[in-house]
Amino acid sequence: MIRQQPPHGSSTSMDDGCQTISDPQRLQALHATALLDTPAEEAFDRLTSLGARAVQVPAAMVSLISDQRHYLKSICGMAPPLGRTLPFSHSFCRYVVETRAPLVIADARESTLLGRNPAIVEFGVIAYLGMPLTTEDGYIIGAFCVIDHHPRQWRDDEIRLIADLAATTMTEINLRFERDLARCAKAELARAHAEALARLSEVQRLQAELARQQAAAEAVRAKAAMLARSNADLEHFAYLASHDLQEPLRMVTGFINLAQRRSTSMDAQTSGWLTGAADGALRMQRLIQDLLAFARVDSIPRSGLVCDSDAALSEALRILGTKLTLAQGRVEREPLPRVACAHSQLVQLFQNLVANAVKYRGHDQPCIHIRASTSDGTVTFTVADNGIGIEPDLTPHVFDLFCRLPNPESQRGAGLGLAICKRIVERHHGRIWVVSQPGLGSTFHFTLPAAAEIAA
Ligand code: ADP
Repeated sequence: MIRQQPPHGSSTSMDDGCQTISDPQRLQALHATALLDTPAEEAFDRLTSLGARAVQVPAAMVSLISDQRHYLKSICGMAPPLGRTLPFSHSFCRYVVETRAPLVIADARESTLLGRNPAIVEFGVIAYLGMPLTTEDGYIIGAFCVIDHHPRQWRDDEIRLIADLAATTMTEINLRFERDLARCAKAELARAHAEALARLSEVQRLQAELARQQAAAEAVRAKAAMLARSNADLEHFAYLASHDLQEPLRMVTGFINLAQRRSTSMDAQTSGWLTGAADGALRMQRLIQDLLAFARVDSIPRSGLVCDSDAALSEALRILGTKLTLAQGRVEREPLPRVACAHSQLVQLFQNLVANAVKYRGHDQPCIHIRASTSDGTVTFTVADNGIGIEPDLTPHVFDLFCRLPNPESQRGAGLGLAICKRIVERHHGRIWVVSQPGLGSTFHFTLPAAAEIAA
């Protein structure tokens, strides 16, 4: 265990004491023992006591030598100095480290090296036998020494015995080092284990969360599919009902007309009832037509359609010709772009918005301005009128099904025209909204994809 040769590649040298003491690798080996400044321990005290008894001396020590001080890990037969530390001036053991060899002194007073050491007078150190404490790597970290207060010649068997005790001390130090390493490794293993467990539980938590989200997404998908089916059923029903109601209604209207033609033989009251019935039938006809238009919105294919908005507006105005003429309405229009929309649906959009502008006109003759602007592949249409306007807090509701605002003209309508507009716009991924003030007219805006978007 004890090696007398300096470590291979060490920068220290036997004849340069200072360098040996402050060799960083030696100091690293010393600090690795983690014994500096630790309290006395029975295992080391037993060894010093054994050494003292074996060679019959009053004192023995286990000394650790740093680059600045002499620390006594164990001291037997002498009172430990303050902090168990000796200054280098009083240290004999430091020379064991510096010379990297056993130090055998019969009478220190006669030694050229130690003759003036204050420990001779202060502690009565006369005879001294110090053996290096050498690590497995060959670094000398201190000394095991025995001390006598009288001169004495150290016998060979005594020197061998103290060398054995120095080696045993190193075995003890190595065992502690390995035990500490094992403890650290165990603690590290426990920490890694705890970390792995924490990670595992986090993974399990994430898996559970993922499964929960997948289940929720699946439930939403199922509900959406159910809703779509039920919407389709409802639309189909509305379509059939509206369609089938037309025929009996036509009969009712026909018979009322026949009865009205014979009104000469009728009293005024009966004739008034017939006029009321004819009005009711007409309103019902419009309602059915609107419902049919609403139900049909989704039946018209969307993909690949390109529509000339100018042509669509012209057609809508032609359909509304009589109404516009009767109301002396004026339409101002700017050139409109081509859009990705079914022609018939854009005609319907313009028709509903312009018809409303006429229907909900104010005191002045209706004046309707229609224009469009294109940005980022989206066309925004604007239909502005000078009609009665809408209370701002009611504007979001005018697009609801069967919405009729509290004014006399509204009561005659079915409240479906703007709902149809909204449905057409939204199925083309657009938006529709209105900005209005009562008495100042209304401005409707809606967006549709520009025609070029389709080509792309
Ligand atoms: P309707 O088909 O019965 O006219 P709409 O769905 O077209 O119903 O319109 C809903 C409500 O919005 C109408 O009852 C009316 O009060 C209001 N409205 C629609 N357009 C205008 C407009 N241009 N000016 C003022 N109010 C309007």
